[in-house]
Amino acid sequence: MQVNEAFPFDQTRLQTDVVPGEGAALPGQCLLVLGAGPKAIAIAAKRHVLAKRGYKVPRLVIVDSKGVVAHWSGGFGFTDGRQLLGTRPEKDVGYPYASTSWGDDDENQEIAGEMFLLSWHSYLVHMGKYLDWVDRGRTRPTHREWSCYLQWVASRIEFDVVLAEVRTIVLSEDGKRWQLVCRSTVDDATLTVEGDGLVITGPGTPITIEGQPANHSRVMDGGSFWLHVEEFARLRVTVSTPLHIGVIGTGETAAAIVIALLSECKEKAFIEVVSPNGVLYSRDEGFEENRLFSDPDGKLARLRGGHKHELSWLRMNERDRREFLRRTDRGVFSVYAMEEVNRAENVRSVMGTARRMQV
Ligand SMILES: Cc1cc2nc3c(=O)[nH]c(=O)nc-3n(C[C@H](O)[C@H](O)[C@H](O)COP(=O)(O)OP(=O)(O)OC[C@H]3O[C@@H](n4cnc5c(N)ncnc54)[C@H](O)[C@@H]3O)c2cc1C
Repeated sequence: MQVNEAFPFDQTRLQTDVVPGEGAALPGQCLLVLGAGPKAIAIAAKRHVLAKRGYKVPRLVIVDSKGVVAHWSGGFGFTDGRQLLGTRPEKDVGYPYASTSWGDDDENQEIAGEMFLLSWHSYLVHMGKYLDWVDRGRTRPTHREWSCYLQWVASRIEFDVVLAEVRTIVLSEDGKRWQLVCRSTVDDATLTVEGDGLVITGPGTPITIEGQPANHSRVMDGGSFWLHVEEFARLRVTVSTPLHIGVIGTGETAAAIVIALLSECKEKAFIEVVSPNGVLYSRDEGFEENRLFSDPDGKLARLRGGHKHELSWLRMNERDRREFLRRTDRGVFSVYAMEEVNRAENVRSVMGTARRMQV
């Protein structure tokens, strides 16, 4: 990984990092990724492995205002770093290690093997923590531990990071290239980063509702809450009657906040979670659901045998896709979060859609 303060337009590298061989990228092509989170690291890892195997790969430039894996460290909101990862750590940057896109079985296995060198398991082995992790029952890492793993992957692969906030996205005059107009977070300068392809990652800006003040000590969002967690711990000692706290939304962001509030405030909080259905649903994690994520179109099953599911992401219509995501991803608490909430007597759900706020 190479961190740059401006767009690293190095012609020498452009020519040398594209290796002759198979692949769809043309020499000099550049893929931009907005955000240096897990998605960007996973793309960079695959690019690194393919380049190592002699494939033509585009140059990769990742633009992030806060640095690599910032949203998981605990230093920039979205978590305090102490929360436990909701999904299994085995679902790491290379999961499911079953690529079928690179020619014959031997080549696919070579690529899977190279990717596995960047896996959660390899990280633990490298850090001398593998047996500890197994003996402790393959525990789920905290967000900070997960960010350390992703940082470790980033340190072993090549890509350029531009430390800048993307302000505007436009097309070049000929309509063929993406241009990210950015403000450097290093020196405040304006710069434009240009590339042939663009991947946008991250959660986006938290949704606001009418009347929501931009800055208020009692109104927070999924990003800013974590910068105030300790205030709740202090309030627990000072308040005499329970604090009434409303949480709008029922996804993993809301789930993590509810759990943190329970942990910091204990019985000194009464938490109401507002959702359109008035029910807190837990994520469907049955075999079929998981399998659709791991093998979306059933290609692996067709090629290698094993479970053949009826569902294929490519054949599903939009309504069915939305329904699938509603059950497995959006607006659901992870199974772990649900267990915590089930134990709490001071959490209840409220049916409704928050439309307006008055402070
Ligand atoms: C509390 C919490 C718990 C979660 N638990 C899980 C879990 O257990 N498993 C799971 O799979 N998912 C979980 N998620 C969802 C998680 O956010 C995503 O899975 C994952 O982080 C997505 O990775 P990403 O690379 O898309 O985005 P992120 O990790 O969010 O990275 C996006 C990056 O983009 C940068 N950025 C944003 N806007 C700009 C801009 N304008 N200019 C420049 N840079 C910008 C940010 O600085 C950030 O570093 C959780 C989310 C939260 C909030």
